[in-house]
This record gives sequence, C-alpha cells and structure tokens, in this order.
Amino acid sequence: MARRKLVAGNWKMHGTLAENAALLDALVTGLAALRGVDCAVCAPFPYLPQLQLRLQRTDIAWGAQDVSEHEKGAFTGEVSASMLKDFGCRYVIVGHSERRTLHGEDDRTVAAKFIAAQGAGLIPILCVGETLEQREAGATEGVVSRQLDAVADAAGVGALGRAVIAYEPVWAIGTGRTATTQQAQEVHDLLRRRVAGRDRSLASELRILYGGSVKAANAGELFAMPDIDGGLIGGASLVAGEFLAICRGGAG
Ligand code: PEP
Repeated sequence: MARRKLVAGNWKMHGTLAENAALLDALVTGLAALRGVDCAVCAPFPYLPQLQLRLQRTDIAWGAQDVSEHEKGAFTGEVSASMLKDFGCRYVIVGHSERRTLHGEDDRTVAAKFIAAQGAGLIPILCVGETLEQREAGATEGVVSRQLDAVADAAGVGALGRAVIAYEPVWAIGTGRTATTQQAQEVHDLLRRRVAGRDRSLASELRILYGGSVKAANAGELFAMPDIDGGLIGGASLVAGEFLAICRGGAG
C-alpha cells in the first residue's frame, strides 16, 4: 500500500498570537478541501493552546518542537510529553539538528525523548542528518545510521512503526541550499534499507520526510521520489501561500 505523505511545518522560534492567527486562518481555509495528504504544524510551546483552539475541528494536526526526556519533576523550564498531550499535540519533533548542535543533545538524549514522547501517545518526528563536513568526508551513511540505530536500539525497532523519520541534511537547513532529489533519495533509501534489516514490513510502511530548504518550487520533484514521503518545512511554513502549495504538492 502506498504511504500517505505528511507535510509538517516547523515554525521554530517565530510567531505572535496575531501572526499565528492569520497564518492558521489561511491554512484552515486553504487546506479545507485538500485530500490525500496529512498536514501538521509544530509551534513554540506557548502557542499550543492557540493551535488546539483553532485546529481542533480541522484535519490539520499540530505538535511541538521538543520534549523533555523526563516524565515530571524538578526540571525547570522543561515540558513533558503528557503536557503536550494535554494540549492535543499529535506530533513532536525530536533530535532536530538545532537541538543537537545548539543544545548539545546527543543520541542517548534524543532516544530518551523519543521514548518519552511515545510513552505519552505522541508521534515523534525523529530528525537525522549529516553536516557539510561529514558529507564531504564521505561519512553521511555512518552518521545517519548511527542516529537511527541509537533510537532503534533504545526503543526497539517496533517503536519506529509509531514514528516518522525526517532526513534533514544540516547543510540544507535554513540555507536555501536543498539536497538534489538524487542526494535525498539516496539517503532515504539507505535509511529504509537500514530499518528493513531489522523489520522489512515496518520499513515499507515507515514515513521518511525530507527537510532542508523545501519550498513550493522544489517540493513536487522531491515528493515524487520513491522513498520521500513528505517534508519537514522550516522557513516556508511561515508563509501561508508557500506552505499551502507544498501541502498540495504532497497530495500528488
Ligand atoms: C527545519 O527547521 O526543519 C527546516 C527544514 O528548515 P528550513 O526548511 O528553513 O530549511
């Protein structure tokens, strides 16, 4: 069975109540009649109630951009998975490269966050990807395999069946430089084969998104690749017309 595409926006640390309201109105209107693709937006924590209120009777899902690895306790500033669930989140991004590099999250922490998210019934969007230096050193396969295996080892391969993977080459995030369709497809294929090595049928159903400077102009050709099952969209998700066009590209 064909995998249904997912287009998820990552707003990062952008937005105000007023800007979000306008963006959400445009998305709700623009996506109302669209079938055949799943759409979601991942917002900063304080805006999750706004998303819940505006999106709850629509087909647009919402989520957060990070989660604590802990269930509860003395962890000042942290937000638990059950709190995200309280605000109706379906998804949470874990292991985004900005978390890995700017906040020092290692594979162990990312795996713990993944497990915490699933423990509360959230669907983790697990990000993996190599830096430019790693790509140029021929280390792409080793890096993304290590990042994926860390989660599969800690959570069990079956847990990947309740998750989404996002391949995001670090050099393509927010840089305007997109991986070519061939570069992206190659890594998606290797990730799927890696999972297939543990569970073939799970691998064939696993959604693997591409992220890194996706825009309306390049989404169609990326989404046409056999192992690209949608996108994780940063900058372009803040522009209603762009995001809507990318979602339409996902509907085929
Ligand atoms: C991201 O933040 O996940 C991302 C892919 O950003 P951008 O689309 O802006 O490159």
